Amino acid sequence: MSTTVFVTGATGFIAQQTIALLISKGYNVVGSVRSAAKGENLKKLHGPKFQYEIVPVLEERGAFDVALKNHPEVTVFLHTASPATFTAEDNEKEILNPAINGTKYALESVNKVAPQVKRFVYTSSLVAMATFEQLGDPSFEGGEDSWSPITYEEGKTNSLFAYLASKTLAEKAAWEFVKTKKPSFSLTVVNPVYVFGPQAKDEEAAGSLNLTAEIVASTLRLKKDDEIPQEAGHFVDVRDVARAHVVAFEKDEAKGQRIIVYTEKFSSQRILNIIRKNFPELRERLPIGKPENVDLSGLANLQNVKSRKLLGFEQRSLEDSVVSAVKQSLRVNA
Ligand code: NAP
Repeated sequence: MSTTVFVTGATGFIAQQTIALLISKGYNVVGSVRSAAKGENLKKLHGPKFQYEIVPVLEERGAFDVALKNHPEVTVFLHTASPATFTAEDNEKEILNPAINGTKYALESVNKVAPQVKRFVYTSSLVAMATFEQLGDPSFEGGEDSWSPITYEEGKTNSLFAYLASKTLAEKAAWEFVKTKKPSFSLTVVNPVYVFGPQAKDEEAAGSLNLTAEIVASTLRLKKDDEIPQEAGHFVDVRDVARAHVVAFEKDEAKGQRIIVYTEKFSSQRILNIIRKNFPELRERLPIGKPENVDLSGLANLQNVKSRKLLGFEQRSLEDSVVSAVKQSLRVNA
């Protein structure tokens, strides 16, 4: 009988690629969603090996109890659901609380209701490992062993800080949980950098995309005289993040590890250069910017040797990722 994997936040950009990969590898998947309409849509997209459970409010104690009781066959739990946004009216209610308490309560539910679960994977972020200032400092040497010093109080002050604090404090809470409660599952944390790439299903690629996929989508929408955005940072393709989630529970060596999923540095100019090179038909409409202006040596060099070794697969380049996302967008929005 094949293993059944529970994936929270099944509608998400990363979750859907992970679900598609899991199903292609023969796993059964139970996804949690916030409404039946979202669940039915995913069932249509992912087929009979996908089932869903409705968990409307993450940050409620016992939120996953019923879903887990309904699926005693689940032995792996991937917690990807979290507010991935930099805008909120109430930072605590909309970002900090669902992320931090949502993670604590998911761990609690699994520990209490699903003792057969052996692996718990939490989707954290690079932002739990370093501040934005550190990530923009070439002398910064953090990564797998470092922590952002951001506090809950700072997180309350604006929505960007709320997101940064939410990921840091939720991950800390997860490690604290396993240290103090000694559950029968082991914890692995996946720390992605900026995630780009195609949606798992073309049907999900129309309209507004999640925050990071939008970085490529908005570059594609630029007009000839537009300013080039100043985005720059560390990149990974979403299909590699999906693979990292699978490695995180398939490999014994991943138990108790933080896995950075990072491939190469990006900037808006680099993304634009890739689009102009690969899609000559778009050159007339797009700006040029300064194509030679692609020096990213000012960004931090992340310490991720252990993670690369653990992942053990060749990661997709920024070029591959951008070309795949743009092809999908042109196909869907034609
Ligand atoms: P996404 O597409 O926005 O997906 C977020 C998922 O979380 C959706 O399923 C969403 O459900 C669910 N969710 C958000 N707020 C919720 C709440 N209050 N209660 C219940 N469910 C909630 O984002 P993503 O990029 O795939 O992110 C997935 C995970 O990866 C997040 O934990 C994020 O922090 C982390 N991550 C992402 C990146 C990146 O670059 N994208 C980088 C590092 C880490 P609905 O569809 O119902 O809203």
